[in-house]
Amino acid sequence: MAFLWFLAGITIIGFSRADADPDIDGLSAAEEALLKQLTMMGDPAEKLDEEQVQQLMKTLLPQVAARLGLTAQQPVPFKLLRRYELKAILLKSFDRDFPPAKRRGMTIAYQQLGLFPPSIDLDRVLIDLYSKELAGFYDPFEKTLNLIAETPALEQMVTLEHELGHALQDQAFDLKQLLLAAVDNDDQELARMAVIEGDVLRLLLPEESRGVASDFPDETQSDGLLEQLASSVAEQVDQSQAPPLLTKRLIFPYTEGLKFIRSIAKQNSGMQTLRDPPRSTEQVLHPQKYEAREEPQVVPVAWLATLVQKEGWALSYHNVLGEWATRVYFELAGMPAGEIDRAASGWGGDGIFLLTKDNHLVTTWISTWDSLQDASEFQRAYVKSVERKAATSASAAGRVVVFCGESQHLSADLKWHLVNDPFPPKAAPTIDTSASPHTSFDATRSSKP
Ligand SMILES: [Zn+2]
Repeated sequence: MAFLWFLAGITIIGFSRADADPDIDGLSAAEEALLKQLTMMGDPAEKLDEEQVQQLMKTLLPQVAARLGLTAQQPVPFKLLRRYELKAILLKSFDRDFPPAKRRGMTIAYQQLGLFPPSIDLDRVLIDLYSKELAGFYDPFEKTLNLIAETPALEQMVTLEHELGHALQDQAFDLKQLLLAAVDNDDQELARMAVIEGDVLRLLLPEESRGVASDFPDETQSDGLLEQLASSVAEQVDQSQAPPLLTKRLIFPYTEGLKFIRSIAKQNSGMQTLRDPPRSTEQVLHPQKYEAREEPQVVPVAWLATLVQKEGWALSYHNVLGEWATRVYFELAGMPAGEIDRAASGWGGDGIFLLTKDNHLVTTWISTWDSLQDASEFQRAYVKSVERKAATSASAAGRVVVFCGESQHLSADLKWHLVNDPFPPKAAPTIDTSASPHTSFDATRSSKP
């Protein structure tokens, strides 16, 4: 779901420095006057012009760098965008990061799994979700900081600070590479987004405690911040018509990211999370699993593609849901929290695969679990959640395989292999197993499901 590579300035104004004294050390008299004018006396409708943004950036960049423990290596290019320009830019970036064939594949697979409603215009939903309250964003592909011209000045300042944080992360860690490494693995991508956002959110912590590592405030101090953050972000995305999975996904990096960073900071003296990002949302949700390096099990795409090809099926789309999306799945099914915990804990790894043959579409969700008991708890919960829907599942040796959509067209033999065949031993790290044939999607799908 690469459209999230926009490191968006979801406006975090509610608890930002809205009422902070603009008296910041090291400002020139002119800069101080500008800040004062904007924050104290400025007309709330006032907007920054390009020159003012430049001036502010010059002041803020070293400050943000110092507060995040990073070094500014070069100036950050910026653009002042008009809101009407946003739609075209978003569309272009979706096509670049998340091509139409993948968007269609995702839509069908998620619909069959019950994660998206039966009718959804994903493009429209995404544009809506991302453009509505956007005050600015940092694009790690263009290496450019974008600010929306129509946003009130105060909000622009807060956004600028946040996005400068991303620009500095990018200079130090190459965010584009960090995110590209998680292509076709939404679970891993979301985990990376969580450390990227969580790390920058340190800027919002009180001055004396926003430093790195051991200076991190204790939980009671930052719990209030987390609550404000969650409700502020939720308020903004709630107004959209997007399916809950997408809005929840937008919120996750902020709230769970900050919690994760806080937890890691308490344990370690160095903030290595961006250098060595978590591999899964499981690791973000359970930081002890990150520290223990409990790696997610990969369901090998090449293994599956070979298996289904023998019976004439093509693999049209694949991805990883992860523990977080598994939890959301059960939430959407109306399951109480305690049951969700039982069903989703012990997640070991998973893969969702959209298979196509003669215009038939089947989504299979293969998950592996830490123990046989974890597997059977998940399967029992899953079966309960789909009582009235056409889906089947089978399990063996800690693996649960779910078949959705037109699964009656899958042969019993193929199903058996998907459930029982051992995964081939891990390929050498130089071989890219993600380079699977999803290009066949357009060719194989000539009519609507
Ligand atoms: Zn951000």
